[in-house]
Amino acid sequence: MKRRICIVGSGTAGLHLAYALKEEFDVTVIHHRSVDQIRNGRIMSTQVHFGATRRRENRFAMPKWDEQALIESIHISIGNQKLFTGMLKEPALSVDQRLYFSHCIEDLAEKGVSFRLKKVVKENIETLTDEFDLVIDCTGKSGPLMPFPIEEELSPFQTPQRKCIVGYFLGIKPNTPQGIGVTVLPELGEMFEIPAITEHGPVTILFIMAIPNRNLDVFQGIKTAEEFTLKMRTATQKFFPEIHKRIAEEKFSLCDEHGFLQTAIIPAIRKPYLTVKNKLVVGCGDSVFLNDPITGQGCNLSSYCAEKLYETLIEFKDSTWNTQVGESYWNRTKQFVKEVTEWTNAMTLPLPEHVIQLLLQGAKDQAKADEIAEWFADPRTAYQDFSSATTI
Ligand SMILES: Cc1cc2nc3c(=O)[nH]c(=O)nc-3n(C[C@H](O)[C@H](O)[C@H](O)COP(=O)(O)OP(=O)(O)OC[C@H]3O[C@@H](n4cnc5c(N)ncnc54)[C@H](O)[C@@H]3O)c2cc1C
Repeated sequence: MKRRICIVGSGTAGLHLAYALKEEFDVTVIHHRSVDQIRNGRIMSTQVHFGATRRRENRFAMPKWDEQALIESIHISIGNQKLFTGMLKEPALSVDQRLYFSHCIEDLAEKGVSFRLKKVVKENIETLTDEFDLVIDCTGKSGPLMPFPIEEELSPFQTPQRKCIVGYFLGIKPNTPQGIGVTVLPELGEMFEIPAITEHGPVTILFIMAIPNRNLDVFQGIKTAEEFTLKMRTATQKFFPEIHKRIAEEKFSLCDEHGFLQTAIIPAIRKPYLTVKNKLVVGCGDSVFLNDPITGQGCNLSSYCAEKLYETLIEFKDSTWNTQVGESYWNRTKQFVKEVTEWTNAMTLPLPEHVIQLLLQGAKDQAKADEIAEWFADPRTAYQDFSSATTI
């Protein structure tokens, strides 16, 4: 008989794991929003799946997507000065999570994965550990369900470093070559412009990261889609004129009434395993590795850790799943989690002088520009550039 695994949560981590584990194990996913609620609900995030994540999606035979909005480049500006366009080695893709998650859930159900619709609370965990051989907490930023211990060194912040303001818009002429626009406004925050695919076709995501209580933090109290669109129009005019120039006034609107979001994250990194009544429980994704979205690594890190957890469980397929297995999973992920987290935390602070110099070099040297674009696809290189700079 196959060992039974329960995945709580059907977001990026839970779905990667369900695809990866479904052949070798009997997988049940418990989640608290139906396919209809996900598909027709509020956007949850922005999401850019870089090359390595797309290769993992391929490895686990996850659904393929229309590639009309492939992301080939990263455009970097500081203030209103465009510095350079760096080319990615492999194209990335951003698919609205409402579409991505709902489609994957339907596909997995057809492929034999069981789904239960239920909001799991802490008090349910013991029952789940009795029923299943392993419970995996993939509850994302609203989790974790269990007190996975905080890694203090990697969790320096007690308050959000940015307010996240996101809208999925129609009526913006894409930048060329098609890519992510990153505009840093020192001491105010950033704007990320991301081409994406939705149920309604291609859109442009405008994602403002405002430093709380500074001049870019202008969306407080905005509740409706109309107010949000109006505010985005005036905010781009005032702070991001290059984007504003590409807005076609008469077509500028959210792709649907739920296509906007405001949130703020307190990053926290946790050791991703513990035991409940002597049974191993592990965490994967944001429930245990939660970073600020400023570097766009959340989905990519969730995908990475899902693969490492899959490989751990396959290696220990016929052994008892105990703390040793949990420690093996943590050992496989720890270094990468550290690199992503430390780079991400550094990006929320004023850019160090040596990093500004690297960016200025990128403006003169295409090879350097391409290397900087690759920071987002391979955050280990960003970590190296940021930390080697501090030793200069
Ligand atoms: C504004 C914003 C922008 C972002 N931009 C990017 C980006 O550009 N690139 C990138 O890579 N990442 C980005 N991220 C991060 C990314 O969205 C997350 O890191 C990623 O979705 C985490 O996946 P996850 O599976 O851990 O959690 P989620 O995808 O959040 O999934 C959590 C799942 O758990 C379920 N759940 C939660 N609680 C319970 C419960 N009690 N019982 C049952 N089910 C439950 C939820 O319904 C959901 O299915 C962004 C995040 C935000 C907030």
